[in-house]
Amino acid sequence: MVRSVVKDVDADVIVIGSGIGGLVTATQLAAKGADVLVLESYLIPGGSAGYFERQGYRFDVGASMIFGFGEQGTTNLLTRALAAVNVKLETIPDDTQIHYHLPDDLDIRVDRDYEKFIQELGDRFPHERTGIRKFYDACWEVFNCLNSIELLSLEEPRYLMRVFFQKPFSCLGLVKYLPQNAGDIAKRYIRDPELLKFIDMECYCWSVVPAAKTPAINAGMVFSDRHYGGINYPKGGVGKIGEALAEGLQKAGGTIRYGARVTQIIPKSQSKNGAISVKLANGETLTARRVVSNATRWDTFEHLLKGEPLPSSEQKWRQRYMKSPSFLSLHLGVKAEAIPAGTDCHHILLEDWANMEKSEGTIFVSIPTLLDPDLAPEGHHIVHTFTPSWMHEWENLSPTEYEALKEERAAKLIARLEKVLPELSQNLDYQEVGTPRSHRRFLGRMDGTYGPIPKRKLLGLLGMPFNRTSVPDLYCVGDSTFPGQGLNAVAFSGFACAHLIATTLNL
Ligand SMILES: Cc1cc2nc3c(=O)[nH]c(=O)nc-3n(C[C@H](O)[C@H](O)[C@H](O)COP(=O)(O)OP(=O)(O)OC[C@H]3O[C@@H](n4cnc5c(N)ncnc54)[C@H](O)[C@@H]3O)c2cc1C
Repeated sequence: MVRSVVKDVDADVIVIGSGIGGLVTATQLAAKGADVLVLESYLIPGGSAGYFERQGYRFDVGASMIFGFGEQGTTNLLTRALAAVNVKLETIPDDTQIHYHLPDDLDIRVDRDYEKFIQELGDRFPHERTGIRKFYDACWEVFNCLNSIELLSLEEPRYLMRVFFQKPFSCLGLVKYLPQNAGDIAKRYIRDPELLKFIDMECYCWSVVPAAKTPAINAGMVFSDRHYGGINYPKGGVGKIGEALAEGLQKAGGTIRYGARVTQIIPKSQSKNGAISVKLANGETLTARRVVSNATRWDTFEHLLKGEPLPSSEQKWRQRYMKSPSFLSLHLGVKAEAIPAGTDCHHILLEDWANMEKSEGTIFVSIPTLLDPDLAPEGHHIVHTFTPSWMHEWENLSPTEYEALKEERAAKLIARLEKVLPELSQNLDYQEVGTPRSHRRFLGRMDGTYGPIPKRKLLGLLGMPFNRTSVPDLYCVGDSTFPGQGLNAVAFSGFACAHLIATTLNL
């Protein structure tokens, strides 16, 4: 069905990729009446929030600690994105965001209840009770500002004016925190070096940089929303989010095509009918009034805009940001005996602070079957473990060497995991190892990167690009745009991108 406002294009908006950023853009625009076509190279929606099934287990590809499913405020962007296209998901609340297992027996659980968490951290650092309270309360200040305004495009002047007149104090609060990093705030209130390291890990485990480089705005969202909307796991697995958004898109009149890999974006200056267009791997060319790339900035500007000079705005951005490492992932199916009673769903494990940022230093663990047992055969659990890893460690290997390296690294990870799950190795039922090469291949992300990270300490979030690009009618969405990585963050980016495009299309 073509309902395009301009007759000679295939769609009002073509979205390249059905990650959560792409799907939120597409559903928002379809709900506003645009004719939207999503082109996804893989077989299912969701991207890094997708899933795969093996021997009765349904594994999440990546994300599993999900923010944005709250019922109140304005920061519950996943709830809102689904509601906009009349779909809803059942979610299961998680009482503990993370159970940290850190050096020197620093063992901290982040309880859903804010006061319980502050009490537990204060019990470990009694001399820092006041500083702890001040730091996390500052994060609440950021969150309360965000959570009182509609989160749309900061590139749209009329929205900025409206929101400023409606909520001037919230806007001024955000302007104050926008150029700050979480580490600046932590050091204002906290002296204890071990506690500052803990704050570094609190940031690193989702921003993959320490507190000094983690924007205060993102920290405010994460450190408060976990107690406000809470962490909620979608029943049936994280893949349900992409599936529900794709269903909502179609209900709203949009179209999604799978197995449709875009190989090139053709700027309108070079296109036959003067509209921006995309070329698919099957040779087809499709035109649109606007194109949105949900691929990473590196893939968009190096692979999809091939032959075009790198815009100076991108060159400047690259001086400030670099690709984060990818991950070595272990998807394990285990017998129930491997999971001691009372184990939490999410864990972070590190034995030596010096290794926090190193390849295979910090270990992330998720056991989603503790929340939704139906993801595994009866009497079994899923243990998904991942740790940062760089692409260069996995390249130039023969197939035999590659398999051997996977086995060796997996065995090391399992041995380290036994600190948390002592009976793990004798209860293994299924094992699949993913490497940066798997992330590159299945998610189409250059070097399998998790997303952009600052090369050095920057002014908070000020350097992150918004959705508009210097290529006319081309927009970017997802984790390489403001405000960065994470499902709720890319949903924010999707709301902003759709809002901006809708204003240019007078929708
Ligand atoms: C191991 C891991 C664990 C994570 N854990 C969490 C977590 O617990 N909580 C959380 O909130 N976040 C987590 N994240 C981060 C989160 O998953 C991502 O930030 C987010 O999903 C990125 O969404 P996106 O829309 O930007 O892009 P992506 O998810 O990368 O989706 C992009 C889509 O575009 C498609 N595509 C790319 N190029 C093309 C092309 N040329 N043609 C057609 N299609 C194309 C891809 O196939 C993909 O489907 C995790 C990520 C990983 C990798």
